[in-house]
Amino acid sequence: MAALLSVRDLHVSYGAIKAVQGVSFDINEGEIVTLIGANGAGKSTTLNTISGLIKPDSGSIDFKGESLVGIKPHKIVERGLALCPEGRRVFTQLSVAENLDMGGYTRTDAENAETIEHVYERFPRLRERVNQSAGTMSGGEQQMLAMGRALMSRPDLLMLDEPSMGLAPILVDEIFEIIRALNDQGTTILLVEQNASMALSVADRGYVLEVGHISKTGTGRDLLHDDDVRKAYLGG
Ligand code: ATP
Repeated sequence: MAALLSVRDLHVSYGAIKAVQGVSFDINEGEIVTLIGANGAGKSTTLNTISGLIKPDSGSIDFKGESLVGIKPHKIVERGLALCPEGRRVFTQLSVAENLDMGGYTRTDAENAETIEHVYERFPRLRERVNQSAGTMSGGEQQMLAMGRALMSRPDLLMLDEPSMGLAPILVDEIFEIIRALNDQGTTILLVEQNASMALSVADRGYVLEVGHISKTGTGRDLLHDDDVRKAYLGG
């Protein structure tokens, strides 16, 4: 079966800085796949390029068998691929409900009314805070809102960029449980994380990204027990 997302020999640069230098990976329908790697390895650049926010120098990105290169970000969302960006980037002046509405811009009002119910069931804390402005919410609540907003487009593939960043351990556990539950309900997930241990525990497969290229790949379990990965990313 063809992969849901297939990235081949991707090269991306910012002026003279070569951030991604020949990255290739696949994601099959139903999987959780994680990209782990140190600061600056090119993880966010990879996700932002897949989302259409950055234009690659070369390489291919195929989603559901069609190329995404050169397609506008909102069209990519329409095709079923959503990004929950690093640092959440919620609209701080807008309420929870308004933020979720923004996430549903590719869908009809009737679809959004139904999806928002699912989001509130998944994140009861958002329902309690529908009218609260997003900027006044805690980091964990903002992460839930950012994930809820991405889910409003009903993506087939959800890309999460560092969802655990800056969160207390108990909230990290909660976010990872939600990731697992979303996947159980049919959403394929591409997870970028600095918390390699949590990411590899939840992932079917992982790719290690090192200064712009993939240095290793395997099942989440194998990478979790790999000596090099343990030394470099799991604190020995
Ligand atoms: P982190 O975990 O710290 O977010 P990352 O693996 O996501 O790191 P990227 O953010 O993709 O890494 O950055 C890859 C490289 O590209 C880094 O050297 C970074 O400094 C550079 N870079 C990222 N964004 C820009 C930009 N807008 N302009 C110039 N260089 C950039």
